Amino acid sequence: MASKITVKAPSSTANLGPGFDVFGLALNAFYDEITLTKTKSGITIITDGNVPTNPEKNTAGLVVKNMKKKFKIKEGIEIKIKKGVPAGFGMGSSAASAAAAAVAFDKLFRLKLDGNSLVEFAGSGEKASAGTIHYDNVAASVLGGFVIVKTNPLDVIRVEPPTNLRMCIAVPDIGVPKKKTKVSRGVIPKKIKFTDSILNLSNAAAIVAGFMKKDLELIGNSIKDVIVEPARQHMIPGFTKVKQNALKAGALGVTISGAGPSVIAFSKSSSNLKKISKAMSKGFESTNTKCQIIICKPSKGAINKK
Ligand code: ADP
Repeated sequence: MASKITVKAPSSTANLGPGFDVFGLALNAFYDEITLTKTKSGITIITDGNVPTNPEKNTAGLVVKNMKKKFKIKEGIEIKIKKGVPAGFGMGSSAASAAAAAVAFDKLFRLKLDGNSLVEFAGSGEKASAGTIHYDNVAASVLGGFVIVKTNPLDVIRVEPPTNLRMCIAVPDIGVPKKKTKVSRGVIPKKIKFTDSILNLSNAAAIVAGFMKKDLELIGNSIKDVIVEPARQHMIPGFTKVKQNALKAGALGVTISGAGPSVIAFSKSSSNLKKISKAMSKGFESTNTKCQIIICKPSKGAINKK
């Protein structure tokens, strides 16, 4: 049996508006690379990124700990994390590490776990960053493409995205709180209006139909969230302007990427992506905020499933 394995997992965007904790989309913007090496004992983490090296506090570390325990593996493991996905900007950084760790562990010990089990273990690692387990980013990172997460029991449905789908992501240059995902989960309303839930449900259903029918207009014009986005947008300086500008420049739909603060615009490969990007930058500039722009496509997952 090999004593070492390396796996790459992509960045991702979660929620896509109304699909809070349910929808995820793998993005080819950035990748984390994890190398697991068998050692005599314990779990050690080596990383080039600014992430915790305590295995309990690192999503990859927690995944390895949980899998080691579950499969009664006595050997130790060294986890080398090459961080590509910037942490804390709403692009599933902690999830990419967790996903790569789960897939690498499965390969290293020839466990041959199915997709749902890999997502379940990867999701268990998210507790280290978000405080709670959630599967949207890890499901996208493990399986690639567009994913719908059903829970109780966990069942992830994967849909191959349209090939002409493109995303412009504006990453604002602002400080993010250490426990950003936890903080931004804290502002979500505990009670919601029934009419709002119907609106979100109809848009979420339409997004799924859009991916199935490869209808980009339907996907874009259904990226509307009346529950979580209004509660979180105050955490992003200039959000309303960034969104308005992107839509005016031809984006099909715009929302917060995951827990933010990045803003994501969905568009066609034939649209003027530079114009949309510039419009988003200008939106952030209106509040004296600089931003980095990333234009990307959907990605394959860590298990390289087509
Ligand atoms: P985002 O999805 O916006 O990137 P995350 O949910 O990934 O946000 O949370 C980032 C937080 O998770 C950071 O505070 C970081 O310290 C913590 N974290 C723990 N382990 C990792 C990891 N392996 N990679 C990235 N972030 C990690």
